[in-house]
Amino acid sequence: MRLVLATRNDHKVREMERLLDGVAIERLPDDLTLPPEDGDTFAANALGKARATAAALGRVAVADDSGIEAAALGGAPGVHSARFAGPEASDAENLAKLRAEAPPGSGLRYVCVIAYVEPGGGERTFSGTCEGTLAAEARGDGGFGYDPAFLPADVADGRTMAELSDAEKDAVSHRGRAARALLAWLRATSP
Ligand code: IMP
Repeated sequence: MRLVLATRNDHKVREMERLLDGVAIERLPDDLTLPPEDGDTFAANALGKARATAAALGRVAVADDSGIEAAALGGAPGVHSARFAGPEASDAENLAKLRAEAPPGSGLRYVCVIAYVEPGGGERTFSGTCEGTLAAEARGDGGFGYDPAFLPADVADGRTMAELSDAEKDAVSHRGRAARALLAWLRATSP
C-alpha cells in the first residue's frame, strides 16, 4: 500500500510514518499547493487537502487536520489552532496565548481527523481524540505545538505530552487513535 501524505508539517509526517506501519508514505511534491484551511470542521479541512492532492497527482492521498479545544474558551482554538496567535504564529506563540487565556487545570481536548481520498472519488474519514488538562508550567522537548502544556488524562504520573517517548505519545494521542482506525480499515479492505 502506497499513499501520498498531504501535509507540509514535518512533525505530522514523522508521526504518521511511525503510526502507519507497513504503508509506504510519500511526501507531497514541492510544487503542489494545498487549499486554504478555511473549513468549519476538522473533517472539511482534512478532506480539502486530501481531495486536492488526489486530484492533482492521480494517487491515493491522506491528510490530517488536527487541533486543540479548550473548555475554558468554548472549544477554541479548534480548527484555528495553527493560527491561534496570528496568521504566521509560531508554536511557542500559540502555546503562550493558550496559557494566558485558559487557567491551569482546565480541560483540553486534542482532535484529529484523517481523510483518505482515492483519485476515483472514494473517500473516508477517521477521527481520534485525546482528553487532558492544561499544565501549570510548560515542560518537555518532545512532540510539537501545544504538547509542553498538555497533561494527557491517560498518563497517570503527571508528565506532559512533550515529556512522553514517541511510543507513549502514539499510544494515547488523537493522531495515534485516528491512524490506528485508518490502518485497521486499510488492512480489512486491501487485498
Ligand atoms: P493543522 O492541522 O495543519 O491545521 O494544524 C494543527 C495545529 O494543531 C498544529 O499546528 C498544532 O498547533 C496543533 N496540534 C495538532 N496536533 C498536535 C499535537 O499532536 N501536538 C501538539 N499540537 C498539535
